[in-house]
Amino acid sequence: MRNVAVILAAGKGERAGGDCPKQFRVLADGRTVLERCVDAFEASEEVNEIVVVTHPAYVSAVQAMLLKCSWAKVSAVIEGGAERWESSWNAVRYLVAAGYAADETNILLHDSARPFVSERILGDVCRALKEDEAVTVAVPVTDTLYIVREGRLTDVPPRSDFLRAQTPQAFRLGVIADAYRQFMADSAHQATDDIGVLRRYCPEVGIRIVAGDEANRKLTYAADFAQ
Ligand code: C5P
Repeated sequence: MRNVAVILAAGKGERAGGDCPKQFRVLADGRTVLERCVDAFEASEEVNEIVVVTHPAYVSAVQAMLLKCSWAKVSAVIEGGAERWESSWNAVRYLVAAGYAADETNILLHDSARPFVSERILGDVCRALKEDEAVTVAVPVTDTLYIVREGRLTDVPPRSDFLRAQTPQAFRLGVIADAYRQFMADSAHQATDDIGVLRRYCPEVGIRIVAGDEANRKLTYAADFAQ
Protein backbone atom coordinates (compact mmCIF):
# COMPACT_ATOMS: atom_id res chain seq x y z
CA MET A 1 0.00 0.00 0.00
CA ARG A 2 1.24 3.46 -0.93
CA ASN A 3 -0.08 6.37 1.17
CA VAL A 4 -0.30 9.53 -0.92
CA ALA A 5 -1.25 12.72 0.92
CA VAL A 6 -2.99 15.44 -1.06
CA ILE A 7 -2.76 18.91 0.46
CA LEU A 8 -5.70 21.00 -0.73
CA ALA A 9 -4.41 24.56 -1.01
CA ALA A 10 -6.40 26.07 -3.88
CA GLY A 11 -8.90 28.05 -1.81
CA LYS A 12 -9.05 31.83 -1.82
CA GLY A 13 -9.47 32.04 1.97
CA GLU A 14 -11.60 35.16 1.68
CA ARG A 15 -13.16 34.74 5.14
CA ALA A 16 -9.69 35.10 6.69
CA GLY A 17 -9.11 38.51 5.06
CA GLY A 18 -5.52 39.63 4.39
CA ASP A 19 -3.79 40.22 1.06
CA CYS A 20 -3.08 36.59 0.16
CA PRO A 21 -4.90 33.24 0.54
CA LYS A 22 -4.70 32.00 4.14
CA GLN A 23 -2.44 29.04 3.27
CA PHE A 24 0.31 31.55 2.38
CA ARG A 25 0.03 33.54 5.62
CA VAL A 26 2.94 33.30 8.04
CA LEU A 27 2.37 31.68 11.44
CA ALA A 28 4.05 32.64 14.73
CA ASP A 29 6.94 30.19 14.11
CA GLY A 30 7.83 31.91 10.80
CA ARG A 31 6.48 29.16 8.55
CA THR A 32 3.51 29.70 6.24
CA VAL A 33 0.34 27.70 6.91
CA LEU A 34 1.08 25.55 3.83
CA GLU A 35 4.72 24.95 4.82
CA ARG A 36 3.72 23.86 8.30
CA CYS A 37 1.08 21.56 6.86
CA VAL A 38 3.42 19.90 4.36
CA ASP A 39 6.10 19.59 7.09
CA ALA A 40 3.63 17.56 9.21
CA PHE A 41 3.10 15.03 6.40
CA GLU A 42 6.83 14.97 5.56
CA ALA A 43 7.53 13.99 9.19
CA SER A 44 5.04 11.13 9.21
CA GLU A 45 6.67 7.74 8.69
CA GLU A 46 3.41 6.37 7.28
CA VAL A 47 3.11 8.91 4.44
CA ASN A 48 5.04 7.92 1.29
CA GLU A 49 4.29 10.81 -1.03
CA ILE A 50 2.71 14.27 -1.09
CA VAL A 51 0.85 16.11 -3.86
CA VAL A 52 0.04 19.80 -3.39
CA VAL A 53 -3.08 21.21 -5.08
CA THR A 54 -3.00 24.96 -5.54
CA HIS A 55 -4.66 27.83 -7.39
CA PRO A 56 -3.23 28.27 -10.92
CA ALA A 57 -1.95 31.74 -9.93
CA TYR A 58 0.09 30.22 -7.07
CA VAL A 59 1.75 27.22 -8.77
CA SER A 60 5.02 29.12 -9.15
CA ALA A 61 4.88 30.32 -5.52
CA VAL A 62 4.51 26.70 -4.37
CA GLN A 63 7.32 25.60 -6.68
CA ALA A 64 9.55 28.27 -5.09
CA MET A 65 8.55 26.87 -1.68
CA LEU A 66 9.66 23.41 -2.87
CA LEU A 67 13.12 24.76 -3.64
CA LYS A 68 13.35 26.52 -0.26
CA CYS A 69 12.08 23.68 1.92
CA SER A 70 13.85 20.35 2.11
CA TRP A 71 10.77 18.30 1.22
CA ALA A 72 11.64 14.82 -0.02
CA LYS A 73 8.12 13.48 -0.50
CA VAL A 74 6.44 16.16 -2.64
CA SER A 75 6.11 14.59 -6.09
CA ALA A 76 3.79 17.06 -7.84
CA VAL A 77 2.12 20.45 -7.68
CA ILE A 78 -1.19 20.43 -9.53
CA GLU A 79 -3.93 22.98 -10.18
CA GLY A 80 -7.13 23.01 -8.16
CA GLY A 81 -10.59 24.23 -9.10
CA ALA A 82 -13.07 26.90 -8.05
CA GLU A 83 -14.70 24.69 -5.39
CA ARG A 84 -13.07 22.41 -2.83
CA TRP A 85 -14.61 19.33 -4.42
CA GLU A 86 -13.11 20.34 -7.77
CA SER A 87 -9.66 20.45 -6.19
CA SER A 88 -10.19 16.99 -4.65
CA TRP A 89 -11.51 15.59 -7.96
CA ASN A 90 -8.51 17.04 -9.82
CA ALA A 91 -6.19 15.23 -7.41
CA VAL A 92 -8.09 11.92 -7.70
CA ARG A 93 -8.09 12.21 -11.51
CA TYR A 94 -4.40 13.09 -11.53
CA LEU A 95 -3.46 9.96 -9.53
CA VAL A 96 -5.69 7.68 -11.65
CA ALA A 97 -4.29 9.12 -14.92
CA ALA A 98 -0.72 8.80 -13.61
CA GLY A 99 -1.28 5.07 -13.15
CA TYR A 100 -1.42 4.75 -9.34
CA ALA A 101 -3.03 1.37 -8.60
CA ALA A 102 -6.70 1.68 -7.59
CA ASP A 103 -6.47 -0.94 -4.84
CA GLU A 104 -2.87 -0.42 -3.75
CA THR A 105 -2.95 3.33 -3.26
CA ASN A 106 -4.50 5.25 -0.36
CA ILE A 107 -5.22 8.93 -0.87
CA LEU A 108 -5.30 11.18 2.22
CA LEU A 109 -7.13 14.40 1.32
CA HIS A 110 -6.21 17.16 3.78
CA ASP A 111 -7.16 20.84 4.15
CA SER A 112 -4.03 22.98 4.00
CA ALA A 113 -5.90 25.24 6.43
CA ARG A 114 -5.33 22.58 9.15
CA PRO A 115 -1.56 22.96 9.64
CA PHE A 116 -1.53 21.60 13.21
CA VAL A 117 -2.47 18.01 12.31
CA SER A 118 -0.57 15.66 14.62
CA GLU A 119 1.70 12.70 13.96
CA ARG A 120 -0.74 10.65 16.08
CA ILE A 121 -3.70 11.45 13.81
CA LEU A 122 -1.71 10.66 10.64
CA GLY A 123 -0.49 7.37 12.13
CA ASP A 124 -3.99 6.35 13.27
CA VAL A 125 -5.49 7.17 9.86
CA CYS A 126 -2.85 5.16 7.97
CA ARG A 127 -3.18 2.19 10.36
CA ALA A 128 -6.98 2.26 9.98
CA LEU A 129 -6.55 2.14 6.17
CA LYS A 130 -4.98 -1.31 6.52
CA GLU A 131 -8.45 -2.63 7.40
CA ASP A 132 -10.92 -0.05 6.07
CA GLU A 133 -11.32 1.53 2.64
CA ALA A 134 -12.49 4.89 3.98
CA VAL A 135 -11.38 6.73 7.11
CA THR A 136 -12.29 10.12 8.49
CA VAL A 137 -11.21 12.20 11.49
CA ALA A 138 -13.72 13.82 13.83
CA VAL A 139 -14.15 15.42 17.25
CA PRO A 140 -17.11 15.65 19.64
CA VAL A 141 -19.48 18.61 19.52
CA THR A 142 -19.31 20.80 22.62
CA ASP A 143 -21.98 23.39 21.75
CA THR A 144 -25.69 22.56 21.70
CA LEU A 145 -26.99 22.47 18.13
CA TYR A 146 -30.19 23.98 16.74
CA ILE A 147 -32.11 22.84 13.68
CA VAL A 148 -33.32 25.94 11.88
CA ARG A 149 -35.84 26.25 9.04
CA GLU A 150 -36.48 29.62 7.41
CA GLY A 151 -34.86 31.47 10.31
CA ARG A 152 -36.92 29.72 13.03
CA LEU A 153 -35.59 27.17 15.49
CA THR A 154 -37.45 23.89 14.87
CA ASP A 155 -35.55 21.37 17.03
CA VAL A 156 -32.71 20.86 19.54
CA PRO A 157 -31.26 17.44 18.61
CA PRO A 158 -29.21 15.23 21.00
CA ARG A 159 -25.62 16.48 20.85
CA SER A 160 -24.25 12.94 21.14
CA ASP A 161 -25.63 12.18 17.64
CA PHE A 162 -23.06 14.54 16.10
CA LEU A 163 -19.33 14.81 15.48
CA ARG A 164 -17.43 17.65 13.79
CA ALA A 165 -15.51 16.54 10.69
CA GLN A 166 -11.80 17.23 10.36
CA THR A 167 -9.23 16.02 7.82
CA PRO A 168 -7.37 14.03 6.57
CA GLN A 169 -10.17 12.05 4.98
CA ALA A 170 -8.60 8.97 3.45
CA PHE A 171 -9.67 6.40 0.91
CA ARG A 172 -8.58 3.52 -1.24
CA LEU A 173 -8.01 5.35 -4.55
CA GLY A 174 -10.43 3.17 -6.54
CA VAL A 175 -13.21 3.73 -4.02
CA ILE A 176 -13.07 7.55 -4.00
CA ALA A 177 -12.54 7.65 -7.79
CA ASP A 178 -15.77 5.65 -8.22
CA ALA A 179 -17.68 7.98 -5.85
CA TYR A 180 -16.39 11.11 -7.60
CA ARG A 181 -17.27 9.74 -11.07
CA GLN A 182 -20.89 9.34 -9.90
CA PHE A 183 -20.80 12.76 -8.24
CA MET A 184 -19.62 14.35 -11.51
CA ALA A 185 -22.43 12.63 -13.43
CA ASP A 186 -25.04 14.11 -11.05
CA SER A 187 -26.11 17.52 -12.37
CA ALA A 188 -27.26 18.61 -8.86
CA HIS A 189 -24.02 17.72 -7.10
CA GLN A 190 -22.68 19.68 -4.16
CA ALA A 191 -20.26 18.78 -1.36
CA THR A 192 -18.31 20.39 1.47
CA ASP A 193 -16.07 17.38 2.09
CA ASP A 194 -14.94 14.13 0.48
CA ILE A 195 -16.53 11.73 2.96
CA GLY A 196 -19.86 13.37 2.07
CA VAL A 197 -19.30 12.43 -1.59
CA LEU A 198 -18.52 8.80 -0.69
CA ARG A 199 -21.48 8.52 1.68
CA ARG A 200 -23.92 9.90 -0.90
CA TYR A 201 -22.81 7.88 -3.91
CA CYS A 202 -21.34 4.70 -2.35
CA PRO A 203 -23.31 4.23 0.91
CA GLU A 204 -22.29 0.57 1.06
CA VAL A 205 -18.66 1.47 1.89
CA GLY A 206 -17.94 1.40 5.64
CA ILE A 207 -16.30 4.53 7.06
CA ARG A 208 -13.96 4.28 10.05
CA ILE A 209 -13.78 7.26 12.40
CA VAL A 210 -10.44 8.19 13.96
CA ALA A 211 -10.40 10.58 16.93
CA GLY A 212 -9.24 14.03 15.92
CA ASP A 213 -8.19 16.76 18.31
CA GLU A 214 -8.98 20.41 18.84
CA ALA A 215 -5.48 21.46 17.74
CA ASN A 216 -6.33 20.15 14.25
CA ARG A 217 -8.70 23.07 13.80
CA LYS A 218 -9.27 24.76 10.48
CA LEU A 219 -7.92 28.30 10.22
CA THR A 220 -10.86 30.15 8.70
CA TYR A 221 -11.30 33.63 10.15
CA ALA A 222 -8.71 36.34 10.89
CA ALA A 223 -9.16 35.65 14.64
CA ASP A 224 -8.01 32.00 14.14
CA PHE A 225 -4.56 33.30 13.20
CA ALA A 226 -4.27 35.40 16.35
CA GLN A 227 -4.48 32.37 18.71
O1 C5P B 1 -13.04 26.89 2.17
P1 C5P B 1 -12.61 25.86 3.18
O2 C5P B 1 -12.01 26.48 4.43
O3 C5P B 1 -13.65 24.83 3.49
O4 C5P B 1 -11.42 25.09 2.47
C1 C5P B 1 -10.84 23.96 3.06
C2 C5P B 1 -9.54 23.64 2.34
O5 C5P B 1 -9.80 23.35 0.98
C3 C5P B 1 -8.56 24.82 2.39
O6 C5P B 1 -7.30 24.33 2.78
C4 C5P B 1 -8.58 25.34 0.96
O7 C5P B 1 -7.34 25.87 0.51
C5 C5P B 1 -8.96 24.11 0.15
N1 C5P B 1 -9.69 24.48 -1.06
C6 C5P B 1 -9.17 24.09 -2.29
N2 C5P B 1 -9.82 24.47 -3.43
C7 C5P B 1 -10.91 25.26 -3.39
C8 C5P B 1 -11.45 25.64 -2.13
C9 C5P B 1 -10.82 25.23 -0.98
O8 C5P B 1 -8.16 23.40 -2.36
N3 C5P B 1 -11.47 25.65 -4.51
